[in-house]
Amino acid sequence: MSRGSGHAQNGNVVLELKDIRQSFPQADGGRLEVIRHADLTLRRGEMVALIGPSGSGKSTLLHIAGMLEKPSGGEILVDGQATAALGDDARTRIRREKMGFVYQYHHLLPEFSALENVVIPQMIAGETRRAAEPRARELLERVGLGQRLGHRPGKLSGGEQQRVAIARALANAPGILLADEPTGNLDHHTSDAVFRMLSDLVHDLGVAALIATHNLDIAQKMDRAVTLRDGELVTA
Ligand code: ADP
Ligand code: MG
Repeated sequence: MSRGSGHAQNGNVVLELKDIRQSFPQADGGRLEVIRHADLTLRRGEMVALIGPSGSGKSTLLHIAGMLEKPSGGEILVDGQATAALGDDARTRIRREKMGFVYQYHHLLPEFSALENVVIPQMIAGETRRAAEPRARELLERVGLGQRLGHRPGKLSGGEQQRVAIARALANAPGILLADEPTGNLDHHTSDAVFRMLSDLVHDLGVAALIATHNLDIAQKMDRAVTLRDGELVTA
């Protein structure tokens, strides 16, 4: 595989959304068309902001991109593989092996330490504890929590909890990171710090990231932005 930029750009495409549509049944018997048309190509190492007003369908599009929800139409290619016709098991396997998720709320396991929260997903994926621990330590060090490995989530600040959630999302070395308002619960200063850390990590690891955010200052710092407007995904 080619390295660097310029040549073989398509070789760097990790996620493609093609003419994605999504509608939901409504109480009056009609359907709410949330996404009418969304095309998106994500390349290795790029960080793309997904913006749009509340209710515009950002979370819906992220769920579809992460194969947590089936669209009413369109195709999703992961590393060039079409997924629409795959069964649930195959979709789940692709999601587990190739994708990491970060949400607005951290959803860490409260009874386990920061280290264990990053070890456990690797063990679920079939790693031994012995193999999982060094990677968990390294990730937590990289998010600035090397001194907090043994802390439970309840003993960490909001920003620190999100840092653990980011380390956890990257625990299984996914090529794709999908984040839904990852700094939405944090104050301005903490948001900036967590975003900077996330950006460094994504670029260092060569992960492709799609990040929904309300925060236009943060969106501007990403490599590019796309906007959901009236059901269409447009270049911002
Ligand atoms: P955003 O994340 O941009 O705020 P969402 O994707 O959460 O937007 O929601 C977009 C629209 O789709 C909203 O009107 C929401 O009520 C609707 N919606 C989302 N999921 C469902 C669902 N499972 N069933 C019905 N309507 C839904
Ligand atoms: Mg949302």
